[in-house]
Amino acid sequence: MPRGAICAAFRVCEGVSGNREPRFSINALGTVGSTAFPDVFRPKPCTRQTDIAEQGQLMNEIGQASAGPDVATCRARPLSIPIGACQRQINWRYASAVGTYHLLALLALLPWFFSRTGVALAIAGVFVFGSGGINLCYHRLLSHRSFSCPLWLEHALAMLAVCCVQDTPARWVATHRLHHHRADDQADPHSPLVNLFWSYTGWLFLENTDLCRGVAYDRYARDIVRDKFYRWIERAVVWITLGQSLVYFAAGFLIELLFGGTLSAAAQFGASIWLWGVVIRTILVWHITWCGNSFPHLFGYRNYETDDNSRNNMLVAIITNGEGWHNNHHADPNSASNQHRWWEFDLTYLFLRLLVLLGLAWDVQLPKVLAPQRSPDAGLKR
Ligand SMILES: [Zn+2]
Ligand SMILES: [Zn+2]
Repeated sequence: MPRGAICAAFRVCEGVSGNREPRFSINALGTVGSTAFPDVFRPKPCTRQTDIAEQGQLMNEIGQASAGPDVATCRARPLSIPIGACQRQINWRYASAVGTYHLLALLALLPWFFSRTGVALAIAGVFVFGSGGINLCYHRLLSHRSFSCPLWLEHALAMLAVCCVQDTPARWVATHRLHHHRADDQADPHSPLVNLFWSYTGWLFLENTDLCRGVAYDRYARDIVRDKFYRWIERAVVWITLGQSLVYFAAGFLIELLFGGTLSAAAQFGASIWLWGVVIRTILVWHITWCGNSFPHLFGYRNYETDDNSRNNMLVAIITNGEGWHNNHHADPNSASNQHRWWEFDLTYLFLRLLVLLGLAWDVQLPKVLAPQRSPDAGLKR
């Protein structure tokens, strides 16, 4: 089929108004419906638990497909960008957010915006928001259901992740599950086999109809959309991400006043808390996530001959607190631990162990098969 015809077929999800985002609605019962989709895309009535089980089955199938013993070769051929992104329409929402945050970060060059507390908040925030929100919640809990925890804790961790400005839980999960399903295939939303820039951040700047919320959510994030808290985040995401700026500034402003500071000192301290605690931290977590998406599909060693080009990259594993053991993860995506050999240290999994010790997490999925303790690049096959 010619590429133009394929693109036309995908346009079914754009809605009659011409907007690229589909017009989908979520009714009080939690089912997703859309005036723009044929009935085949409408989900069957079901419960959150059955949705989780169904999505878990999907991820099991993906894991078996990528790590099955009959798979002998990895994908390393050059790819074109996904067909869904072929119309080369700019995603202004993402492009403007990334551009604005990076421009604001230039304020860090001005001494007026500096405070040691702000810098400490940025560093701590990388662990709390990045590892707790993105790694533990968006990735290992929501995308892979690799452990269970109280719903209030799941929602609290999800709020940390929303503050990382990486879109809503449903969008992130749908994108990531599609990545696992079609890893290093043309439909992979961010494979570096297109090119490194595309994988790192370029894919964010083009609209991709494969990630249309209605279609992608129904296929890959039905269990997330079932939760009314996550449906609320779909509507409130912009206000949450803007609201954190207000909270950080107000906290710094009031603390300085409480300690006897002047109004101008309070404004300076509040601004430094906001710039480092929100803007710089958000950018750091962005680049950490983008490193984890891109480099471990090009550089590193392989424990398993998965049906993709995933690799274990020690440098990325250090930067991302454990997400760089990417070949291990693609071989066994439902495992809460990416540590398959003794030196493959996974700090995010240690956070999870702490939650288990506190009685706040259970049903932790461990690696089904551990790679033999041999030197890297042994090319082991499961
Ligand atoms: Zn991957
Ligand atoms: Zn994953």
